[in-house]
Amino acid sequence: MILVRAPQPALDQAALTRRVIAACRDVIVEHEAYLCDLDCAIGDGDHGTNMRRGLEALTGESEHLATVPFSEAMIAAGTVLVMSIGGAAGPLYGTLLMEIGKGMAADPSAAFADVFQQAVAAVARRGKSSPGEKTLLDVLYPLSDALIEQMPLSLLAEESQGFANKTIDMKALRGRASFLGERSIGHMDPGAASCALLCATICRELVLAGAA
Ligand code: ADP
Ligand code: MG
Repeated sequence: MILVRAPQPALDQAALTRRVIAACRDVIVEHEAYLCDLDCAIGDGDHGTNMRRGLEALTGESEHLATVPFSEAMIAAGTVLVMSIGGAAGPLYGTLLMEIGKGMAADPSAAFADVFQQAVAAVARRGKSSPGEKTLLDVLYPLSDALIEQMPLSLLAEESQGFANKTIDMKALRGRASFLGERSIGHMDPGAASCALLCATICRELVLAGAA
C-alpha cells in the first residue's frame, strides 16, 4: 500500500510572526513577578517589569512587523526593544535583534545560525562582557553553539532552562549583580532567565508551526 501524505500548507510568515510575538509577550507577562524576584535578589528588582514593557511595546508593533521582510522586522523590533525595555538589558536584547536583521539583510542566503553567532558576538561587545560572567550571554552563547550544531529546536526548547540554571553557581562580573561579588553566587541571573524563557517559547512556536 502506498501512503500519501497530505501536502503541508505553506507557512504563513505573517501569522507566524504574530504568534511568536504574542507567545513571547505571554510568557514574560506570566513570569514578570518571577523575573523581578530574581532581580531583587542580585539587582534592583525591575527586570520583569522592564521585559514586560518591552514585549508589550513589541506587541503594539506586531501588525507592522508581520508584514515587512524578516530582516527589516528584526531591525525594527530591536529598535522597539532598546527604547522600551530600558535598563541594561534593553540595549543588549535590542542589539541582538538589530544585528540579526542587519546580518540577514547583508546576505539573505546566509545560514541563520551563522548570523545569530555574529549577533551574539555583537551583544558581548556592547556589554563588554563574555560568557561565564553571569549574564544573558550565558544563555545566548550555548544557544548559538546549539544552533551551529543543528540541535533540533524541540530539544533546544527543553535545554534552554538548563543554560540559565548554570548561572546560579556563577559569580556576577557585569551589571548591578557584580556589586555583590561572592554574594551573587547561589542566585539565577534574571537576564539569563528571561532569555531562556524567550528561547524556549520561540523554539516551541516554530516547531508547532512546522517551521523547524
Ligand atoms: P538593570 O540592571 O539596569 O536594572 P535589568 O534588570 O533589566 O537592567 O537587566 C539586568 C540583566 O541585564 C542582568 O541580569 C544581566 O543578564 C544583563 N546584563 C547587565 N549588564 C550586562 C552586561 N554588561 N553584559 C551582558 N549582560 C548584562
Ligand atoms: Mg534590574
